[in-house]
Amino acid sequence: MAQELPPEADVVVIGAGLAGLVAARDLIAAGRSVVVLEARDRVGGRLLNADLGDGKVVEVGGQWVGPTQDRALALADELGVATFPTHAQGDNLVEIDGGLRRYRGAIPKINPAVLVDIGQAQFRLDRMARSVPAEAPWRAPRAEAWDGQTMWTWIRRNTATRAARALLQLAVEAVWAAHPADVSLLHVLFYTRAAGSFDDLVGTEGGAQQDRFVGGSQELALRLAARLGDAVTLDAPVRRIEQRDDSVTVSSDRGAVSARAAIVAIPPTLCARIAYDPPMPALRDQLTQRMAQGSVIKCMAVYDAPFWRDEGLSGQATSAEGPVKVIFDNSPPDGSPGVLLGFLEGRQARELAQWTPEARRRAVVGCFERLFGPFAASPDAYLERVWAQEEYTRGCYGCLMPPGGWVSLGPALREPVGRLHWAGAETATTWNGYMDGAVRSGETAARAALAQLAE
Ligand SMILES: Cc1cc2nc3c(=O)[nH]c(=O)nc-3n(C[C@H](O)[C@H](O)[C@H](O)COP(=O)(O)OP(=O)(O)OC[C@H]3O[C@@H](n4cnc5c(N)ncnc54)[C@H](O)[C@@H]3O)c2cc1C
Repeated sequence: MAQELPPEADVVVIGAGLAGLVAARDLIAAGRSVVVLEARDRVGGRLLNADLGDGKVVEVGGQWVGPTQDRALALADELGVATFPTHAQGDNLVEIDGGLRRYRGAIPKINPAVLVDIGQAQFRLDRMARSVPAEAPWRAPRAEAWDGQTMWTWIRRNTATRAARALLQLAVEAVWAAHPADVSLLHVLFYTRAAGSFDDLVGTEGGAQQDRFVGGSQELALRLAARLGDAVTLDAPVRRIEQRDDSVTVSSDRGAVSARAAIVAIPPTLCARIAYDPPMPALRDQLTQRMAQGSVIKCMAVYDAPFWRDEGLSGQATSAEGPVKVIFDNSPPDGSPGVLLGFLEGRQARELAQWTPEARRRAVVGCFERLFGPFAASPDAYLERVWAQEEYTRGCYGCLMPPGGWVSLGPALREPVGRLHWAGAETATTWNGYMDGAVRSGETAARAALAQLAE
């Protein structure tokens, strides 16, 4: 990693998450000089491995990859990072209306009226999503009406049963890490369109949770950064960006670099915390005032072995009671040690983030015990990450549009401002919010910067 910043480069990249690192890779491959400025003392951003000992890891940030996430898979291939399937053999659990039931496959054994209710809602959501252009959601035929309501309003108007509402709420919290009342219906439809379908978002086999990376997803960022070598400077939070007719100067805590273009590869919320001269256009600034991060605490309990597998359980569970509402078996590929992964999302994440770590651990492990029995009560270790507390992330999985956001401010999300190009998972039109989207956004921004340099 670079010790001293060069005063000049063709392009400065801000942020060494997947998007920034991929952009830098492509710019360097095109023969351009690049400086990547990263605020943290590590690369990977929302990707972070945690050590389990014996060379094994789990991720406390993003981890899964699935079918059609072709750019993330191609990157893994290029870097020699293999994938393995998420453990899904055995019965899943669903806890709803005070009852705990086992089921196999994708469809829980619950009241058929509730299943029909969810099915019709999902069918309608998919049909509406197909009419939303992912590159310009504000041009959807019913954009005004859909952006004028929250997902919660839509769920309440379009479901007949309390259980269907609870399960749809749970699905929204699992995908967006936010209560449905926090999100525009148009945002949900856009995001669904960018992924393919609602099933693609929530599914394990055949969906976004199908596979994991051997050695952990941060390996992608670590290997990319190793290839970039001195081009990446850590501990360099960017504070100010000045644009003049023929140059852009990016000032960080490690010094300033002048360039002919810059790629800002950080979430929109954090873009608003940089000072710009001249100031950002009003539309762009108002966009970054409104796009808010979801809230997630990713929690894992580590056991000697995945004991639930011996009882014919997959380790996957959904609970409408919570506070952990979605659970997975997150053991390493060889099944040792056993790891249960639970997400605290949206309001649960915000509330429990205020508790002491010990109280949070009791609540999470208590939930695992309720669902998986007494063995779950005594993990050997417990890991968690409160992403809203991270200075250079401030929430997760990504940024959401509140009602009205897409229609009035959407065009400012990707539109370059002078020599500044925007990247990051939030700017992607395919798999927005995911690692795959981050990779695609880095590739797109690098192409735009190269075109500008060629002018
Ligand atoms: C708990 C969790 C679970 C997730 N699960 C999945 C999953 O299973 N599958 C999936 O595909 N995606 C998942 N995601 C989302 C995925 O991690 C992100 O979409 C992706 O990593 C975003 O990459 P990025 O490069 O766009 O942004 P980031 O990773 O946020 O990178 C931005 C970088 O910019 C840096 N930075 C910020 N401000 C400044 C500044 N002022 N100056 C310099 N540097 C700055 C940050 O430190 C960071 O390194 C998850 C995320 C979380 C947190």
